[in-house]
Amino acid sequence: MPAESAQPIAQPAGQPTPEEALQRLIAGNAAFVADAPHEPDISRQRRLELAQGQQPFATLVGCSDSRVGPEQLFGVGLGDLFIVRSAGNNVDAAGMGSIEYSVMALSVPLIVVLGHEKCGAVAAATDVVTKDARFPGSIGRMIEPILPAVIAAERAGAGGDLIERAVEENVRRMVERLQVYSEPMLLEPQSRGELKVVGAVYELATGKVRWL
Ligand SMILES: [Zn+2]
Repeated sequence: MPAESAQPIAQPAGQPTPEEALQRLIAGNAAFVADAPHEPDISRQRRLELAQGQQPFATLVGCSDSRVGPEQLFGVGLGDLFIVRSAGNNVDAAGMGSIEYSVMALSVPLIVVLGHEKCGAVAAATDVVTKDARFPGSIGRMIEPILPAVIAAERAGAGGDLIERAVEENVRRMVERLQVYSEPMLLEPQSRGELKVVGAVYELATGKVRWL
């Protein structure tokens, strides 16, 4: 990224409000759940338009899991979502920088943190906490940021499946980090009402995105 891109730019015309962006995702997921055909605009015309510049309406922080492709489950297409994905939907420095860039340079009005049922990374983190499991290579380090969510979910002890409670807690913690413990470039647009951060959990079998 060239240095001059580091300066905030004016809000581009045509961005929806955070609520409009959220409603678009809710409607897209409802269509997906109803088995409506997924027909995003992926025409040559759209490609040529996007070649001039992007204006995604939401930033999505999701898991690498092959079953949770964001464009499919929200029924959107090219140029719609700015996406950060990693196993367990955690965000390292590169991921956080990507989120900040999307807000600062692209004026994205909505950030969605999306966990999902039966998340392997959260299951692995649960095994670390409950069974003292160890994982080779960088997998162990990848899981580390999820451990506090598992520990909190275990402490809460609210019944039900620990992994599924940890999935939800992991999302809530990332939302909180973005809402409270982040840079002014994310906090200020939120305080002005130009940016919203929401959490959700995707249900694999129903296709439904459950908003937290
Ligand atoms: Zn996952």
